[in-house]
Amino acid sequence: KDTDLTRRRVLLKLSGEVFGGGKLGVDPDTVRAVAKQIAATVGEVEVAIVVGGGNFFRGAELSQSGMDRSRADYMGMLGTVMNCLALQDFLEQAGVETRVQSAITMGQVAEAYIPRRAIRHLEKGRVVIFGAGAGLPYFSTDTVAAQRALEVHADEVLMAKSGVDGVYTADPNKDPEATRLETLTYDDALRQDIRVMDQTAMTMCKDNDLNMVVFGMEGEGNVTRAIRGEKIGTVVSN
Ligand code: UDP
Repeated sequence: KDTDLTRRRVLLKLSGEVFGGGKLGVDPDTVRAVAKQIAATVGEVEVAIVVGGGNFFRGAELSQSGMDRSRADYMGMLGTVMNCLALQDFLEQAGVETRVQSAITMGQVAEAYIPRRAIRHLEKGRVVIFGAGAGLPYFSTDTVAAQRALEVHADEVLMAKSGVDGVYTADPNKDPEATRLETLTYDDALRQDIRVMDQTAMTMCKDNDLNMVVFGMEGEGNVTRAIRGEKIGTVVSN
């Protein structure tokens, strides 16, 4: 039996910085390490992943240097697909069955985004990696993380952050008094303009009562712990 209705299902958002290790392009060692952490949870938890692309291009930045915004955004979306393929490769090396689904059709490298098929893959224990964002300019992969989580009925969104291990009362790099919050409401995050994800994404989570966990990538085994639902980072909810 490959369908377990009681199994936890999560949507993990990995931003581009996770892939680049802080640099342009893909850092294989970093991706391999993340893949191993995800692999440790397979069979236990159903994992869908939305991949960012900031390690290649961000449309808003390219448009500042004179490119048409939509075209630049398409470049950004194509960048996310390269990250998907890198992650897929290292996951398969770790023995995990995966499927990449792209919101921009490119049959040679990925399946098309077909939500019901994605759910079926998850039920079978495959890791589903969503690429090319929403396929729409002017969107962010954070917003797509919220949307895909809702569409595949994930229990929560896990936002992996680099350089910070949750949401703080103030910027921990500037204010030594800053403390990490265990919980935060969407109302407070929106009112105080706390950018754990962009506002569109946060509003979507709030309106649909989808909980989010903001956690740091750096701690040993943190990705595994977040996927398993261990208490980690900051929980954002209504
Ligand atoms: N993008 C887009 N539509 C989407 C998702 C992404 O146009 O639905 C483009 C946008 O230009 C964005 C880039 O892809 O800057 C990379 O995604 P994002 O900035 O969200 O990646 P992250 O910050 O997570 O690395």
